[in-house]
Amino acid sequence: MDFEYWWLLLLPLFFGLGWVAARIDISQLLTETSTLPASYFRGLNFLISEQPDKAIEAFTEALRADSNTLELHFALGSLFRRTGEMDRAIRLHQGLLEREDLAEPQQLMALAELAQDYLKAGLFDRAEEIFLKLTETRYANSALRALLEIYVREKEWLQAISVAQRLETLTGRPLRIEVAEFYCELAQQNMLLGQLSQARGNLNEALEANRNCVRANIMLGDIEAAAGAQSNALNAWRAVELQVPDYLELVAERMMASWRILGNTEEGLQWLHEAVRKYRLEETAHVLFEATLDLKGPEAAYRMAHEEAEQSPSLTALDRLLQAKVSGMPDGDLRLVMSAIREHLEKTAYHRCRTCGYTARQFHWHCPSCSEWETFPPRFERAISKTSLI
Ligand SMILES: [Zn+2]
Repeated sequence: MDFEYWWLLLLPLFFGLGWVAARIDISQLLTETSTLPASYFRGLNFLISEQPDKAIEAFTEALRADSNTLELHFALGSLFRRTGEMDRAIRLHQGLLEREDLAEPQQLMALAELAQDYLKAGLFDRAEEIFLKLTETRYANSALRALLEIYVREKEWLQAISVAQRLETLTGRPLRIEVAEFYCELAQQNMLLGQLSQARGNLNEALEANRNCVRANIMLGDIEAAAGAQSNALNAWRAVELQVPDYLELVAERMMASWRILGNTEEGLQWLHEAVRKYRLEETAHVLFEATLDLKGPEAAYRMAHEEAEQSPSLTALDRLLQAKVSGMPDGDLRLVMSAIREHLEKTAYHRCRTCGYTARQFHWHCPSCSEWETFPPRFERAISKTSLI
């Protein structure tokens, strides 16, 4: 390959150009920084060292020296918000909006900041009003997210659905789990009002948004069962197995109740037995055991518990074994052991949010801590600590 040596002659020229460019940048930077008060840099230092209160002090001082610096206003405003000084944040951003010399981009920015202040202060009506205006601007993404948060908090599910759909279109990120959950919440509201056909419609829309929406099938089953249509209820609940079998944990008891009403207890016992065998479901095994004890007597229940304890020994299996053993017996030591085990099992069982780790004995579709949807696994987790180990 031939190398064109004349290119080498251009090298000094490139160096020269680079030097000139650097000089221009540096001198420009010096001019800019010399106009900023020293307290501005002190504020920055405090910010970097995570001391927001001192940063606020320094920025306020810098603003006194030069009240025209917009960036300082915005920095101070967001610091006020971060430290929970909502009145000051709101006043500062309102003050900015009253200024007549503000260009449009800065006006929008001040408006977006003010809306965030209102949101954090819990003034949802005012926040909503501004965010709605911002959905047509370059702040559309954050405005829609904030609106979604507001509508979920306020349980305005129809609006939450519409905003989530707009957000999906804007970002391309699917929100089908959330949209389906919003339809379920809407169905819940309608069920409480006795509007069952609307509730059914909402649940079908939930399944259309997310065909894996387990909650929709669970609720459809509940509606059918309440209306006395036990076979339809069982069909809806059976569909849970085809979606996510773990959620059978939540419906096993309701299913057995429907089989009892129908008088098909044998079919119920068989179905639950098969589900427990396939998916190793703890709660479902408990429902199956209780039903067997009740319908077939202690001996059949004991055989089942014994088989379970042999196959997969656990405290829950031992608990059932003891329960079958003590059934019909007078109070005695065995019963004391059983109640100690049961108390321990109840104390140590919880659901844990997959996103934030929040734990609760009760199952939630909507995490009370991080507000994510469907992050609670339906199976119980068991605490293993020094105090809880037997
Ligand atoms: Zn969570």
